[in-house]
Amino acid sequence: MPRSQFVDFKAVKSAITMEQVLQHYGLREQFKKSGDSLSGPCPIHKGSNPTQFRVSISKNIWNCFSECKHGGNTLDFIAKMENVTIHAAALKAIEWFHLDPGSMSANAEGDKEEPSETAEEEPATPAKPVSKKAEPETQPVAPNKALKFRLDKLEREHPYLLERGLTLETLVDFGVGYCAKGMMAERIAIPIHNAEGGVVAYAGRFPGEPPEGTPKYKLPQGFRKSLEVYNIDRAIKEPTDMPLVIVEGFFGCMTLHQHGYRKVVALMGSSMSAAQEEIVRTHTTRNSQVIIMLDEDEAGRAGREDIAVRLAKFVFVKVHTFDEDGKQPESMTEDEVAALFA
Ligand SMILES: [Zn+2]
Repeated sequence: MPRSQFVDFKAVKSAITMEQVLQHYGLREQFKKSGDSLSGPCPIHKGSNPTQFRVSISKNIWNCFSECKHGGNTLDFIAKMENVTIHAAALKAIEWFHLDPGSMSANAEGDKEEPSETAEEEPATPAKPVSKKAEPETQPVAPNKALKFRLDKLEREHPYLLERGLTLETLVDFGVGYCAKGMMAERIAIPIHNAEGGVVAYAGRFPGEPPEGTPKYKLPQGFRKSLEVYNIDRAIKEPTDMPLVIVEGFFGCMTLHQHGYRKVVALMGSSMSAAQEEIVRTHTTRNSQVIIMLDEDEAGRAGREDIAVRLAKFVFVKVHTFDEDGKQPESMTEDEVAALFA
């Protein structure tokens, strides 16, 4: 990849999200989401206090309330993690997130650093040193490889899945089930396919509300969900004149599908990575319609604005809003889905 001498930091900064950056470092699962914020142990000074490091999802800024005593934007974070300049951090971001270097380069006057914004949060209690540190990734992001195995003997009729309203037909259709043993032991295994239909990972959903310190989702080591769009392989086989619906989660996607709307994909989060944007671009035309249907909460509202602006450059975009706070695609009834797409 050609490296631009001058990088438009602002363009790079606004093309990536803090969630993506955390995902890149394999840290996202350690962070707890609450409203618009993510909190977790500080990856920069390797703190162990789980609330010390905060991220504003919508503003894409972070703050550490202990040793680091400051915060910044996505590029400040990469620069700190890699111990490099902002310029080098921007070049790394271009590589990692497959950004278009041409559109990110600027003339010399543009080559200046933006002042960092900081989040306003209460300081948390001091951290204890922790031995296990995150390994910063220095290689460019390679595509997720298709798995050479399949998890079998998944239990379709697990109470948790019935509780979420999914029918046996849907579970079989999506290959979802409870995994007693294996890499996703004691979790609900959800296969994730790439656009070509190959299984690139299984996501493991804890069947219920996980205990403190246990992540809701487990993903295989090295797998980058920011490079995939869930259910894209099947959605692209639906008629081209139907709108493509984009939701946040696996279960929202499965629910719409079960209710009869099959041209639906999930971002596996409330933000869209540059790679996901590229997948949507590849599988749409200028006449395609996209409906963005994120959860009706702070993160969903922030995410959909950003996604709408980005997709509107190459498709017709409609943003679906729910009239009730907290409502999400998964909570839609069959009648609501039918009325919406009638
Ligand atoms: Zn820190």
